[in-house]
Amino acid sequence: MYNLYDFKIEKLEELLVNKYFQKKYRATQLFKWIYEKRVDDFDKMSDISLSFKEVLKTDFCLDKPKIFKKQVSKDGTIKLLLEMSDGNLVETVLMRYNYGNVACVSSEVGCNMGCAFCASGFLKKKRDLTCGEMVGEVLVLDELLKEEDPSKRVTHVVVMGTGEPFDNYDNVLDFIRILNHPYGFAIGARHLTVSTCGLVEGIRRYANEHLQINLAISLHAPNDEIRNKLMPISRKYPLNELMDAVKYYEKEAGRRVTFEYILLKGVNDSKENAKELAALIKGTLAYVNLIPYNPIKELIYERSDENRVHDFLDTLTKLGVTATIRKEFGTDIDAACGQLRAKNENKKL
Ligand code: SAH
Repeated sequence: MYNLYDFKIEKLEELLVNKYFQKKYRATQLFKWIYEKRVDDFDKMSDISLSFKEVLKTDFCLDKPKIFKKQVSKDGTIKLLLEMSDGNLVETVLMRYNYGNVACVSSEVGCNMGCAFCASGFLKKKRDLTCGEMVGEVLVLDELLKEEDPSKRVTHVVVMGTGEPFDNYDNVLDFIRILNHPYGFAIGARHLTVSTCGLVEGIRRYANEHLQINLAISLHAPNDEIRNKLMPISRKYPLNELMDAVKYYEKEAGRRVTFEYILLKGVNDSKENAKELAALIKGTLAYVNLIPYNPIKELIYERSDENRVHDFLDTLTKLGVTATIRKEFGTDIDAACGQLRAKNENKKL
């Protein structure tokens, strides 16, 4: 049984033509039904012939995740724990910025990257999420928004939830192509972001796709010594290799990356660290997004004091680096990546 949400339009065309001897435009018709009109019942698809409807009903499903748990924050942030068809639980978040409704999507069940400050890594990766499951994360959030007001929808998607997107490269790329396609979610490339902890091969491969979709890189340290302590992936790909890949991306894709940098008290937040960071990224066009740490009670890390955050920002700015401090959402709910899932999985055990 195929899940129709697993297919980007080119793959669906190929399948329908080669296996079902249909015309290519069948794929466009189906995309319009499932994404434009949000119809999930084959019987309601009026321009599909009766005989092909029967084929669809036997060979295809429109499988969506179920809401296992929902938390709503004072600022309107919604955090969902979604249950996939095999019972695995995945976190999805909706944040409301003044410029739009941002879905933060998970790309894997658990994560193997093992970043020292992150709750997602409490639970090792069980498996990749399929393209259709990631599509499902956005569909479910869209449905909740439409219940509030039919004109509302997810306007931006960031693949920044649990998991490492470039560790599940093909499914993530199909997913963002469905988001971006005019007959899919029709979300503009500039409204889509993929965030990686720095898998160098993935960055180079992504550069070669020449997509206009934003790329964010979790940097979190100005040198290998600190980065090795925080992010095990750094031992495999030291910063000089990462920076080379970033420059390659800038040249190939013609776009700049965003560096994400969590400020951790006494670990990476001194003025010296800011100077080192400015020197490290010199020669790239990159922009730095400073992230206030969302503390996790099982971990030793603390968030930097506000004046230190501002000193860090000031130092970067004076050195000609464009940087901003990320707005925080949902701190009253379990907003940090992986917190909600970790809690619930523990309960289940
Ligand atoms: N694996 C990808 C995407 C998932 S993590 C990546 O590393 O980019 C998304 C972002 O959230 C990363 O920048 C990550 O470092 C950050 N993050 C993880 N735990 C956090 C916490 N407790 N507080 C603030 N940011 C956190």
